[in-house]
Amino acid sequence: MFDNLSDKLDKAFHILKGHGKITEVNVADTLKEVRRALLDADVNFKIAKDFTARVKDKAIGQDVLTTLQPGQLLVKLVKDELTELMGGDVAGVNLSGNPTVILMSGLQGSGKTTFSGKLANFLKTKKNKKPLLVACDIYRPAAINQLHVVGDQIGVEVYSEPENKNPVEIAQNAIKHAKANGFNVVIVDTAGRLAVDQEMMDEIARVHKAIQPQETLFVVDSMTGQDAVNTAKAFNDILNFDGVILTKLDGDTRGGAALSIKSIVNKPIKFVGTGEKMEAIDVFYPERMAERILGMGDVVSLVERAQEQFDEEEARKLQKKIAKNEFGFDDFLTQIQQVKKMGNMKDLVGMIPGASKAMKDVEIEDDAFKHIEAIIYSMTPGERSKPAIIDVKRKARIAKGSGTKVEQVNQLMKQFDQMSKMMKMMQGPGGKNLMKMMGG
Ligand code: GDP
Repeated sequence: MFDNLSDKLDKAFHILKGHGKITEVNVADTLKEVRRALLDADVNFKIAKDFTARVKDKAIGQDVLTTLQPGQLLVKLVKDELTELMGGDVAGVNLSGNPTVILMSGLQGSGKTTFSGKLANFLKTKKNKKPLLVACDIYRPAAINQLHVVGDQIGVEVYSEPENKNPVEIAQNAIKHAKANGFNVVIVDTAGRLAVDQEMMDEIARVHKAIQPQETLFVVDSMTGQDAVNTAKAFNDILNFDGVILTKLDGDTRGGAALSIKSIVNKPIKFVGTGEKMEAIDVFYPERMAERILGMGDVVSLVERAQEQFDEEEARKLQKKIAKNEFGFDDFLTQIQQVKKMGNMKDLVGMIPGASKAMKDVEIEDDAFKHIEAIIYSMTPGERSKPAIIDVKRKARIAKGSGTKVEQVNQLMKQFDQMSKMMKMMQGPGGKNLMKMMGG
């Protein structure tokens, strides 16, 4: 996420770190580099210029040069300004309606349908809501099917009227259906076009007027950079929407959209999409994002994700197994699956302070555990529960079965051995606190 921008900002601050004594000239040079980094990230020229002007004013105001660690203070000023640029505070979703009606808007391909599903899933699993998804795209039958597929996946009902060509009517009928059947959130997915056109704008304006949503969300593909900002402006002029959803943040986005949109439409980014799976949705925290961009990591999010996956019952069982020396490969597999649920590896690495930079040249596979899982799946149940029986012959068979090399099997066995020993140690005197720290 924003790797290039992070890299350039890091280099900009290097100027300061390289000098014994920091002068006004160094600070100016640094800020010039910061501005260049923002422009490279496809941030609008005026926004980038104002940004550095504000940081400079603050630096002068706070007498940066006379402080003990001017470099650090300047990084902090940039962080605060980045946070402000992305919206400052966290913006929630208004769920006060009965039912709450949420209208999704955006261009075709922006990720509207996918996000509608993610939001429904989020509200169902995290907010205990009973959402109804509504398919209002009357032009593409495939879009209606797509929403049904998404609905099935997350166990959320989808309302559609394939024969009806009036999206206003469909949306109104859906709300009636929701009221009659106890749904408390109605998420209306609308038709998008490849580019902004009058007909689409008129249609969504009509739907908007008729259903009076509590939340109108504008979905935008973050890969589209400054274009995203123009589209946002066009939609905002018509709908005066409440918030922005930035999708595809998991891709190779430069960051321009995330950093420019608030300044242009003055609406907060509420959620981000970070993958194609239904779980790949995150509440947008401007400050955490600023910290990530500056390579400071995002430990808070990392811990939160770990806590979400954490199951106390499972942890207790695991502890017992470790104590009795019964920890086997099946448990290892369960652990891996829990980590996987936390998100893709690249994303997780980005949350560890400094790790993105340190691992910049390391190719992180999306599915970093693929080989490990294949190896474990090739073991017999007996081998999984008693790894000690795995001899040379068995290793060769496992390697063959999993399409890996014997060295890889050996490596995994070694890792497993180390991990078992470490866990055993943690159980010993003094180790209890360590387990507690890890949530055990
Ligand atoms: P719509 O036309 O606006 O409804 O867009 P879709 O929901 O059909 O999404 C278009 C494509 O983008 C699909 O292939 C989705 O799987 C993909 N997509 C949507 N959101 C994300 C995301 O956050 N990350 C990634 N990598 N792909 C996404």
